[in-house]
Amino acid sequence: MDCYDLILAGGGAAGLSAAAFAAGQGKRVLVLEALPKPGGNGAFAEEVFALNTKVQENNGVRCDVDGWFRLAMEHSHWKNNARLTRNLLEKSGENMDWLCAHGLQVAGLKPESVPGLGAATHYTEGMHTGREIMKVLRTYCENEPNITILTGTRVTGLVQEEDGRVTGVTAEQAGESRFFAGSAVVLASGGCGGNRDLIRRIIPGVDDTVFAHLRGIRMQGDGILMAERAGAEILSDGCFENAGPTFSGDLTVMGLVTKRYAVWLNRQGRRFANEAVGDNFVYGCNAVYAQPGHFCYVLLDQAMVEEAMRGPVDFLAGPEAVKSGMAGMRKALEREMEQGRVFFSRDLAEIAAWMGIAPETLEREIEEYNGGCAAGRDVFLKPESLLRPLQAGEYVCIRCGVDYILTHGGIRVDECMRVLRADGSVIPGLYAAGVDISGLDAAGYQVTMGGHSFGLSLTGGRWAAECALKDR
Ligand SMILES: Cc1cc2nc3c(=O)[nH]c(=O)nc-3n(C[C@H](O)[C@H](O)[C@H](O)COP(=O)(O)OP(=O)(O)OC[C@H]3O[C@@H](n4cnc5c(N)ncnc54)[C@H](O)[C@@H]3O)c2cc1C
Repeated sequence: MDCYDLILAGGGAAGLSAAAFAAGQGKRVLVLEALPKPGGNGAFAEEVFALNTKVQENNGVRCDVDGWFRLAMEHSHWKNNARLTRNLLEKSGENMDWLCAHGLQVAGLKPESVPGLGAATHYTEGMHTGREIMKVLRTYCENEPNITILTGTRVTGLVQEEDGRVTGVTAEQAGESRFFAGSAVVLASGGCGGNRDLIRRIIPGVDDTVFAHLRGIRMQGDGILMAERAGAEILSDGCFENAGPTFSGDLTVMGLVTKRYAVWLNRQGRRFANEAVGDNFVYGCNAVYAQPGHFCYVLLDQAMVEEAMRGPVDFLAGPEAVKSGMAGMRKALEREMEQGRVFFSRDLAEIAAWMGIAPETLEREIEEYNGGCAAGRDVFLKPESLLRPLQAGEYVCIRCGVDYILTHGGIRVDECMRVLRADGSVIPGLYAAGVDISGLDAAGYQVTMGGHSFGLSLTGGRWAAECALKDR
């Protein structure tokens, strides 16, 4: 029986990145991927976070690693694993440089999200960053003689010796059980976005039933469950990579939902947020989730709809809305009105009735909002440029909720990606990376570090491989 130097359970962002690193060191690597094609959710990412890359150097950008570290830790209220966070931030540049040296063309850097910390979010042409990065990794891995990739092969368990050392995996391929031996295994199965029971364990307290799954692949949490069966500690500090307010019907309608001059109302007909926070999709989501029933209405008047129709679809509205554009909006709204998810009328009382509130409540709220617009001051500090009074004409009211694309968290690892038991001891030979691990977004998803989910998954995979090879 062949014994590989490294086995990757999952051929997505973290898995392929780990495989490429190990093969580059002359090691024999096996990538086991459940789906017919490697790439995972990595292929969907629009941007990638990295510090002090050659791209940044060429653009005169110097990143403040300490500043980014402080931000990550403070955002997590110091619940993150500080050493792990530090390691991955410091190594993120090396990972991007490797990708660029292997053909990745970076089109640009997004403007600095925190003044002084350095522009850290890279993107490729058309924002198909994940697709391009996964293509570079796939091409490298498929052409590297030291790497074997078996697709359609789902890892089902870890093989351990008496002392707990992991020495291989079991897998299922075309209905047959197989065994593969390896000196080390990296779990990189992409979280548990498709496993409700596991979501409730790693993100306790969240009413997952109100979150729609927007797009991407819903992973089953295989890596987390295998780690647990092998004795690992599974933490309950996970989070959704979440967004809101979002519309779950015809996604064309998102072209209106992302207009921040619109007004958000809860089920009681009350405003509850500065609508501009929606540009930080996690803040927007949290504000909506905090409302009774966890939903809201997005209300626009005729002038707002007309302005939206003249302008471009915001990137945040998602690829479907960007693709359909504004031209099909009227038809989409009509279809959605039939479905009961949208209501439009010139009569505010009808809008109020559809929302299930008294007409006076809605009138009072609009009066208060319009008063704020006239005074140039909003109680929730909405920027003046977005303060537009709601005026008579046709109103469009859209019922919106919250959604997620994947989960973060689960397996406790140390700063070298080694999987730990609850007593802090290491399970020899077992590593984890990507969104299967805890310790990086322990107090909710950190949007200010745009692209860190993807960037630190790639970096974590690479670092897991490096540590696994060193530990042998
Ligand atoms: C629509 C969308 C947009 C996104 N946009 C961004 C963005 O702009 N910026 C950002 O930072 N992040 C973004 N992300 C998140 C990013 O894609 C993830 O952070 C990243 O892919 C996680 O890497 P991973 O290796 O943990 O998981 P994945 O890349 O999903 O890889 C996991 C792999 O494991 C495989 N697998 C699962 N179970 C098994 C098993 N039992 N055996 C074998 N294989 C298995 C899966 O099929 C998959 O190929 C986005 C995600 C989605 C869905």
